[in-house]
Amino acid sequence: MREEIHTLKVEVFDSLDELPEDERGLIEQAMRAKGFAYAPYSNFKVGAAVLAGGIFRGSNQETAVYNGSHAERTALDGAAVADRKNRISKIAIVGDSDVPITPCGPCRQDIKEVEDLAGSPIVILMAGSKGAVWRVLGIDGLLPLAFGPANLK
Ligand SMILES: [Zn+2]
Repeated sequence: MREEIHTLKVEVFDSLDELPEDERGLIEQAMRAKGFAYAPYSNFKVGAAVLAGGIFRGSNQETAVYNGSHAERTALDGAAVADRKNRISKIAIVGDSDVPITPCGPCRQDIKEVEDLAGSPIVILMAGSKGAVWRVLGIDGLLPLAFGPANLK
């Protein structure tokens, strides 16, 4: 028996001003998208923006039977229907909270799928309505030992 230790490196930015211009812009687009969230049941609005040779925004869209779409998925799907699914390099996620929000399990799997298509680690930016921004390079840290396309070959 041997043990493996998997670690997660999170870069913490205390303000948007510390981020590179393109990533600051992506967060601002996610904040804007949050304004278009339809969240009458959870009252928790989330916005996302994806960089894929252009910016694609998304926000959570709920339904009365609780099977709505999360912001990350609507943004990723926006890039996909523009034929950019394999060109996604960065995603920003912003929630109505005082601390950065992280993607849920199914959204992490969605990010895993597009990262595998892109062939290189995706920058994942996570933020709340104010305060710090978390930056992670690649989905592996957020979804360790993931099941992905390679497992089906
Ligand atoms: Zn989600």
